[in-house]
Amino acid sequence: MATYKNFDIAVYFSTRCLASITTLEAFEKEFSLLEKHLNISKVYLETHRDDMDMSADLLRSVKGFFENKGIKVSGGITSTLFKSQENKPLIDETGIFGCGGTVMGENAKALPSPQKGVKKAWTTFCFTDQASRQKLKEISEFTASIFDEFILDDFYFTTCTCESCIKEKGDRSWEQFRLDLMAEVSKSLVIDPAKKVNPKCNVIIKYPNWIEAYQETGYNTEIEPLLFDEIYTGTETRDTNHSIQHLPRYGSYSLMRWMENVKPGKNGGGWIDPGQGIRNLAYYLEQAYLTYFAKGRELMLFCYSWIVDTIFVPPLGFELEKLDEVLGETGNPVGIPVYEPHHAHGEDHLYDYLGMAGLAFEPQPSFPETDSLIMLTANSARDERVLEKMKAHLIKGADVCITSGFLEAMQGKGIEEFTSARYTDKKAVSRDYMISGMGSVFFGDYYGRNDVLFPVVSYSNNGADCLIAARKDDNNFALLLRNHYANGTVYTLTIPDDYADFYKYPVEALTTIRQYLMSSLGVYIEGVDNVGIFMYDNETFIVESFLDNDTIIKLHVAGGAKKLIDVRSGQELTPLLRKESESIFEVPLKPVFYKVFKLV
Ligand SMILES: [Zn+2]
Repeated sequence: MATYKNFDIAVYFSTRCLASITTLEAFEKEFSLLEKHLNISKVYLETHRDDMDMSADLLRSVKGFFENKGIKVSGGITSTLFKSQENKPLIDETGIFGCGGTVMGENAKALPSPQKGVKKAWTTFCFTDQASRQKLKEISEFTASIFDEFILDDFYFTTCTCESCIKEKGDRSWEQFRLDLMAEVSKSLVIDPAKKVNPKCNVIIKYPNWIEAYQETGYNTEIEPLLFDEIYTGTETRDTNHSIQHLPRYGSYSLMRWMENVKPGKNGGGWIDPGQGIRNLAYYLEQAYLTYFAKGRELMLFCYSWIVDTIFVPPLGFELEKLDEVLGETGNPVGIPVYEPHHAHGEDHLYDYLGMAGLAFEPQPSFPETDSLIMLTANSARDERVLEKMKAHLIKGADVCITSGFLEAMQGKGIEEFTSARYTDKKAVSRDYMISGMGSVFFGDYYGRNDVLFPVVSYSNNGADCLIAARKDDNNFALLLRNHYANGTVYTLTIPDDYADFYKYPVEALTTIRQYLMSSLGVYIEGVDNVGIFMYDNETFIVESFLDNDTIIKLHVAGGAKKLIDVRSGQELTPLLRKESESIFEVPLKPVFYKVFKLV
């Protein structure tokens, strides 16, 4: 069986995918459409979703079919049920994710619709309801009786606010109640029952791509990864403009990295689908690239019926072979360590927006232990001891970049020790920028694409250097401040109210931010927004264009003697300029595509 050198591919079969199998002969023919293009090494067969429970006979028969092909087989569970919608017949309560086989539009295979003609909506479980609890326990036992491994799809959460849940919650917040509840449910209704039936069963929890809302819905990343054998990461891209989730595409990379740091070596893979993404092939492929740039071990394709016999598969197969040829050159991912504690939110996905503005990040659930510059956002304020840790970091001579959101969260709690910068309740709007020059004078007038709304961060003259300012008539406002504390440097980055407004900054302002914050990583991009850089610990890096158009960037590389090799072509790039301190290379980039580079 053909395999890839650097990663694996798996395909998920939902209950509806399985129910659509008529005969194994017909299925063999249809499955060959995938095999023709992809080296599939594993499949996951779902035992339960909504009101559909698969029979042991069907599961064993399909399992045997794949095992005969040398393909590994695991189980899958989606913890949803159907509820009656009789009381509100005119309202579609199928939920924000919808259901059924309509997501893929004209390309989707027609899927069996559960309980045709009955107006019902699916819902996640109420985990204080005894009948639902018993159902989940039985599903876990049943699945473990057939498979030596299973994964929980990311409906394994609760937003139930029924009277029973209100009573059980007591004085706790919904967040704390659900975090406690799901940790208990994981042990007593999933893991323990499964292991009792099949002690060698490997149980995997998949986390969705919406990290900012985990705590509100009970996804407990602090406790659950200790209970489950493995974790798995949702790296599905969502259309930022048109989907409710509005998640930046860089999240397919950053969440994979955060999860790897949550349970090192036990983050099983990344899970992508063509649903709610931008309806463009390149964006589908990009989900796969980003998952693998983040060193995902396996890529799960959800789900069989959504992709088989569609245009998504042939280009995916073609490009994965190309990626497999070059990805082995890259080492372990590195980037600006950004502290994202468990259960944190505040400046949600900020590092994803900044990642698409050309900064490389390595999100971490613990305070980063490093001598390099780290970033602290409003999310980092979740840790009550963060200022104490920041102080120790600065005393040892390392630098920190705090965001205006962190400044706001820490004001009155001790941040005043480290900087004269203060978050105010004033706002400013500008599209004109200035960059610090010699002798406290700004030079240059740079023009952004459109107006940007900023919070006003005040500071003490000479207490901090203003490196970038937004200019107004007869006034200017700090966007990047620098001051020293102990042996380190504190940068304060003003965050626009709409984080995507970073993409309206002029090239010069973005490049200056990258130059200061990326200096310890040895490479930075001079160029427009929506170009990402993914860095590794062996002098390799990848540049990915998130743009829809061609662009040319300049890569600034520390040192005057480095050669830059385009790994895919093997060509050495001719430097535009060599100085003792740096070499500058010009790189053209194709839309929604990447280049892998090696420094020698
Ligand atoms: Zn409930």
